[in-house]
Formats: sequence, C-alpha cells, structure tokens
Amino acid sequence: MGEFILSIDQGTTSSRAIIFDKKARIISMAQQEFKQIYPESGYVEHSAQDIMGSVMAVVAEAVVRADITADDISAIGITNQRETTLVWDKRTGKPVHNAIVWQCRRTAGYCEELKREKGAFIYDKTGLIPDAYFSATKIKWILDNVPNARRRAQNGELLFGTVDTFLIWQMTKGKVFATDYTNAARTMLFNIHTLEWDGELLELFGIPESMLPKVQSSGSFFGYTDKSVLGSPVKICSAVGDQQAALFGQLCTEKGSLKNTYGTGCFLLMNTGDDPVRSKNGLVTTLGASLSDKPPYVLEGSVFVGGAVVQWLRDGLKILETADDSETMAYSVEDSGGVYIVPAFTGLGAPHWDGSARGIICGITRGTSKEHLVRAALEGIAYEVADLVRCMEKDSGINVTRLSVDGGASKNNFLLQFQSDILDCETVRPEVVETTALGAAFLAGLTSGLWQDFDDIRSTVKTGKVFRPDMSEEQREKLLSGWQKALRQTKAD
Ligand code: ADP
Repeated sequence: MGEFILSIDQGTTSSRAIIFDKKARIISMAQQEFKQIYPESGYVEHSAQDIMGSVMAVVAEAVVRADITADDISAIGITNQRETTLVWDKRTGKPVHNAIVWQCRRTAGYCEELKREKGAFIYDKTGLIPDAYFSATKIKWILDNVPNARRRAQNGELLFGTVDTFLIWQMTKGKVFATDYTNAARTMLFNIHTLEWDGELLELFGIPESMLPKVQSSGSFFGYTDKSVLGSPVKICSAVGDQQAALFGQLCTEKGSLKNTYGTGCFLLMNTGDDPVRSKNGLVTTLGASLSDKPPYVLEGSVFVGGAVVQWLRDGLKILETADDSETMAYSVEDSGGVYIVPAFTGLGAPHWDGSARGIICGITRGTSKEHLVRAALEGIAYEVADLVRCMEKDSGINVTRLSVDGGASKNNFLLQFQSDILDCETVRPEVVETTALGAAFLAGLTSGLWQDFDDIRSTVKTGKVFRPDMSEEQREKLLSGWQKALRQTKAD
C-alpha cells in the first residue's frame, strides 16, 4: 500500500498539490495561480477549464517532484474554496457558464429580499443567514439567465457541484457525482438537522433535485480516479471545504476546540460537537468534517479585514517594506502609545454588524511614530478576533482556553503573543501551517488506512509554538476599554 497522501487544495486564487508522508511531513508541493474574471463590478468568475487545468498541472508537478508514482499514493484528499458554483452538462461535461465564485455579489439584491422574507425559515434549516456567498442563489441565477438552462435542468440534463464535486466528477470521468457534508452545508439547500437536501428550499429556488450530488462524510471513499489522471487509478478518500479542513488539520475534533485563520480576513471556527448552537450574534452554524455519518456542528464567524490591514500599511501608506517587517517594528516600541486602529474598511461584522462603520485611527499625539501605527494595526487584528471569540463563548456557553492559529499573518510572533495576552488564553501555532491541505490529508489517510486512528495522528503531529498570556488583568482591562472607545468612534452616527 502507498505511504503518501496527495492533497489537492483548490483555492480562490490558486490551486495547490501537496504530498505528505506518514509523519505528516511535506514531501513536495506545487502551486499555480489562475485568472480571476470580473465581467462586471461586483461579479467574480473562474473558468472551469482553468480550475481543472491548474489542478492537473500541480498534481503532476508535485508527484514528479516527490519522485513517486500512483502506486505510492495511499489516497487523494480534496479541499476547496467553498460555495463557488458550477453547472455542467451531464453528457458532455461541458459547463453551461463560468464558475460563479463565492465572492460574487450578483445575487445580493435578491438575498436582501430573501433575508427579510425568509430569513428565519432558511436559518432554521441551514444554519445560514441568507447571503449571496452561498451557492443556492448562484444556481438559481444560472437557471434564470443561461438560455434553456432551466428546461435542460428539469429534463435532468444538468448537474450542479461545488468545486470538490466538479473535480471528483472530472477525475473519475463522470463516474462519481458526490460531495461531502461541509460543502453541502454551505449551499443553503442542505438541511443541517436532517442531513438531507431540503425539498422546500429546492422548491423556493426552483432547483430540481436531479441536479444535486450525493452527500457523504468528508472522510470516506468517493471513488477511483480515471487512469488518465495519474497513470493508474488512485482512491479519492476525502472532500472537505477549506475552513472545515483547516479545523480538522488543527486537530480541533473535540467539542469546544477552535481555530482562527489569519489571512486577508480572519475565519474563526468552533467545533460545538453534536450541539447546533443558535447564535444570538449573527454567527452561522454549519457542519464540520469527520469520518462518521454524524458530522459535528460548527459555529463560524469572520473578520472582514485581518492581514489586509498590514497590506494597507505596506502598499497604501507605504510605512512598511514587507509584511514580515511589521513584527520587528511592533516589538521596537513598548506599546502603541495610546494609538488604536480599527480596520473597519468595509464595515464591521460580528458582533457589531454595522455595514456603514468605517476604519479609524485614534489617539494620535505629536509623539506617534510609524512603529506605533504598525503596532496598533496588529493589535487591531487581535482585538477583532478577541471580540469574535467572546461572541462564540457567549453563544456556545463554552469557555475558550486554547486557540489554534494558522494563515499568512500567523507567522507574526508579536500578533500571536498579543492575541494570547488580550484573550488571556493560550495561542498555538502548529509546525505545519498548511492546515487546510493537512486536514484533507488526515481525512483521506484515516479513510485509506494509512493512519489507524486519531491518536495515531496526534502522536505524529508536532506542536509548533505555544504563546502563553503574560499580561496583568489591570493592563488587559485598560487596553480593552480603549478598544471599546475606539470602536464606538467607527459608528456612522
Ligand atoms: P489569503 O489566503 O487570505 O490570501 P494568506 O493566508 O496568504 O491570505 O495571508 C496573507 C495575509 O497575511 C496578507 O494580508 C498579509 O498582509 C498578511 N501577512 C503576511 N505575513 C505577515 C506577517 N509577517 N505579519 C503580519 N501579517 C502578515
């Protein structure tokens, strides 16, 4: 049996393939960016061919670099950008439209109406607050706007899939039409309580059930790849949405465990076990990854501007050469000198939900230096994440004592130490920060038998660095009250 896992991470701006060994070490990696298509303001599309082409290219490259063959691969795991929507012809495999990307706002107007009229109905079934992100209204848009699409869909000629489904269908040459719970849960068509496609929602959006893939556990056998993919057939043993993959890759399989990804924005996910928590703060409830047919529930929230504030300091204000420099600059001053930056560039999300709020820099004096500004920006990210964590604690009744972290900005030690201080809890950064690809690999390897059980994995994974709180209660209170004051000033009126 093969000793390696091939993990395919199909993301929003690039596709990546990573080969892991049994010790969860990266043996090789390949990455390819592809075109973002903006046909109109607020519209975002990908060409299905670009998605497929880039995936095939990186798979081949990673395998060559690792100097292995298909026989050395125990299983393939797939993780993907969530919600992005593809509709294709069942017979020819030809998409009827470009993929409509999760960021695309083309259905935003309709979603506002939905939220007002059917918000509670949809939330009760799906755990989601209606938004243009989710696939349902994107499918409806395709059926309403592509000539003959609705008729063809009703005749059973068209299939819908998120990117995982499309890749599996393509790699098995149309033999397998399936998705997993985590991807299904983000379509706004899946009932997270009954774990089935919801007939009433399908009717609401006018989507025939024949278009929809079979839903199975994230870690389970999906099918064999066609031999054209890797020379001989290889088992596909996982499919999982990127955020839930990262949660699994961080080993957050216990109730109450949570991870934050510090990327352009931040994504915070908490495993709430078999309890589908109803948020009072506008967080969504979704499904997590597992090997069983009873996936755990997950509470999810996001911060719109995370690492992006560092990008802005670098590219907008030009007070940073590189994002990495922010760490030394922040450490070079004792504190932020009373400066707060609230990076509400596009409004504030949970728990504030103020779309008209805008960013603010306050507390500036004659002595304020660019180092103070950089430090205040990093602290701003940590305060935002802390607010979200507190929100999850309130909603779930779970006290957070440890936060697992990943994403581009998580390599900043200053940020993570301040996060620990302000949250008064441990922050843990794993050694392998490719947690998304790793999560898909763990699910695939547990399914294929490369790893026996979860303990087998725990014993192979090395904890990277643990940051422990080192701030007095008094100091924390003082800083947090300054943050609250700054937040109030971002409000429109
Ligand atoms: P995404 O997947 O959202 O594109 P990444 O996980 O690649 O994002 O993280 C990129 C973000 O992290 C950028 O916004 C960048 O400004 C920020 N970033 C990268 N390195 C650092 C660093 N050392 N300190 C702070 N922020 C950083």
